[in-house]
Amino acid sequence: MNIDLTGKVALVTASTGGIGLAIAKGLAQSGAQVILNGRSEASTHKAKETLASRVPGARLHTAIADLSSASGVDALLSYAADVDILVNNAGIYGPQDFYATDDETWEKYWQTNVMSGVRLARALLPGMVKKGWGRVVFISSESALNIPADMIHYGVTKTAQLSLARGLAKFVAGSGVTVNSVLPGPTLSDGFAAMMKDEMEKTGKSLETLGKEFVMANRPSSVIQRAATVEEVANMVVYVCSTQASATSGASLRVDGGVVDDIV
Ligand code: NAD
Repeated sequence: MNIDLTGKVALVTASTGGIGLAIAKGLAQSGAQVILNGRSEASTHKAKETLASRVPGARLHTAIADLSSASGVDALLSYAADVDILVNNAGIYGPQDFYATDDETWEKYWQTNVMSGVRLARALLPGMVKKGWGRVVFISSESALNIPADMIHYGVTKTAQLSLARGLAKFVAGSGVTVNSVLPGPTLSDGFAAMMKDEMEKTGKSLETLGKEFVMANRPSSVIQRAATVEEVANMVVYVCSTQASATSGASLRVDGGVVDDIV
C-alpha cells in the first residue's frame, strides 16, 4: 500500500517530541505538509530542524501555542485556519492519588486533553466538510478503557475523547470526513522517558528494559509484553489519515499491544 498525502495539510498538536513528533514524521514522509505545534519557539524550531534532516524535502511549518486554554487554541488557529488533517495528540499524564487530585488539576487535565480537541474540531471541521475530505484523529489511550486507579483524572479525559470522536464522526456522517480515535498502550515516548528518568539513573537499565518491566508489572495483560515504540503508534495514525482508510470512521483503534483484554 502506498500512502500518498501530497497536497494535504496536516496539523499535529504537541508535536515537538514523543508520539506527536513521530506522527508528524510519518505524515511528512507520506508527502503531507505538516504544521508542528509546541509551546516554545526553541522546542518547535528544534523539532522542525530534526524532521527536516530526517525527511528530505519535507514541507514543515511551526505554530507556537499552549493548548491548555481557549486563548492558546485561538493562537494555534491563527497559524492553522484551514487544514485537511487534524491530529489531536496534545495530552498530559501522570500518576496521582485520587484524594490528592484537586479541582485545579482536574480542570487542567480537562482543558488540555479534551477541550483542546473540542475547540480545534469546532474550528477546523467546517473547512474539511466543505472540501468533502478530511481526517480528524484523537490520540486517546488504553487508559480510556482500562482506567488506571492511580490516574483516574487522566483516564476520564481519555474516555471523554472516545465519546467526542464517535459523536463527531456521526455529526459529519457522509461528508467524506472521518473522525477516529487511536489508543496507544505504554509507549516509549519522551514523556514516558521523563517518568522513568530517576529509575534509569538509579539502575542503569535502558528505557526499553524499564518499559518492558513497567508493562509486565502494571499491564500484565499485554500480548506483546513490552512497551511500543512511538513509530508503531504513528504507523496506525498515518494509515487512518490516508485516503485508503476512507471506510474507517467513528472507530477506536487500539495500538495497545493487546493490553485491553477484549476481542473487539
Ligand atoms: P510526551 O510527553 O512525550 O510529548 C508530549 C508533547 O506535548 C511534548 O512535546 C510537550 O511539550 C507537549 N505538550 C504538553 N502540554 C502541552 C500543551 N498544553 N500545549 C502544547 N503542547 C503541549 O507525550 P507522549 O507520551 O508522546 O503522549 C502523546 C499523547 O499520547 C498524549 O495524548 C498521551 O495521553 C497519549 N498516550 C501516551 C502513552 C504513552 O505511554 N506515552 C500511552 C497512551 C496514550
